[in-house]
Amino acid sequence: MATTKTTKAKKTVTPIDERETFVSLQKTFGDSEISVEEKLSILYNLQLADNDIERLVQLRGELPAEVAALENEIAGYQAKVARLQEAISLEKTIIEQGKKEIVETDAEIEKYRAQLEGISNSREYDSINKEIENTGYLRQIAMKRIDEATERIHGHEDNIAALNDRLAILDEDLKAKQAELEEIVSSTAEEEKKLRERRESFSSKLDERTISAYERIRASVNNHLAVVPVYNNDSCGGCFNTITPQRLVDIASGKKLVICEHCGRIIVKTA
Ligand SMILES: [Zn+2]
Repeated sequence: MATTKTTKAKKTVTPIDERETFVSLQKTFGDSEISVEEKLSILYNLQLADNDIERLVQLRGELPAEVAALENEIAGYQAKVARLQEAISLEKTIIEQGKKEIVETDAEIEKYRAQLEGISNSREYDSINKEIENTGYLRQIAMKRIDEATERIHGHEDNIAALNDRLAILDEDLKAKQAELEEIVSSTAEEEKKLRERRESFSSKLDERTISAYERIRASVNNHLAVVPVYNNDSCGGCFNTITPQRLVDIASGKKLVICEHCGRIIVKTA
């Protein structure tokens, strides 16, 4: 975040600077108090400092997202557990209701049985027996409802146990990531400050146009490299295209601004 700010800060001079490239600087590159060799060395060091800053910010940059993702996942599982617990309490009210019905049906059956004792009329006797039978069915239905609800509760409890296992693992992950992030933030704060000071010490030695071209190219390429070393003895360290022998000689001399004809990056010799 702070990198972009530093990046943009230098780009404010004139509109022409916005279109600056190393090629457009070529003619005037040597017209300064410092030698081309020194200027190239400063540019390369600036690039290295920027690489370090970028690595540092990236390192921290992924962790907050990972922490947030874990927190989201945990919240999702916790919501599932809460929904299952709600379902369980609903099942429990079904069980309570069933138990109440059983107490009621038992009382009714008892009442009917008592009535039977004083009855000699077979028609009335049959009718009361029929009531006992029907009430018995109601009792069975209540029992079945209780059994089914109990079974569903067991299912929910199994799911909750599995979710809690998963949550325990995620929670451990989260704690580790949070600790890692805290450590990185606190340990890199100092390092970042030093790197930015280091960067500033290089960039302050360069003129605005050079800085502008550097920033512009850095911003336009994927790997954010504007100044690159020779790769594998004969290729551009930015785009990996082959460098002509004459250019290789110029790079080795360290006294000329050599721009890759394929990608526009500056190619420098490295010690
Ligand atoms: Zn190149």
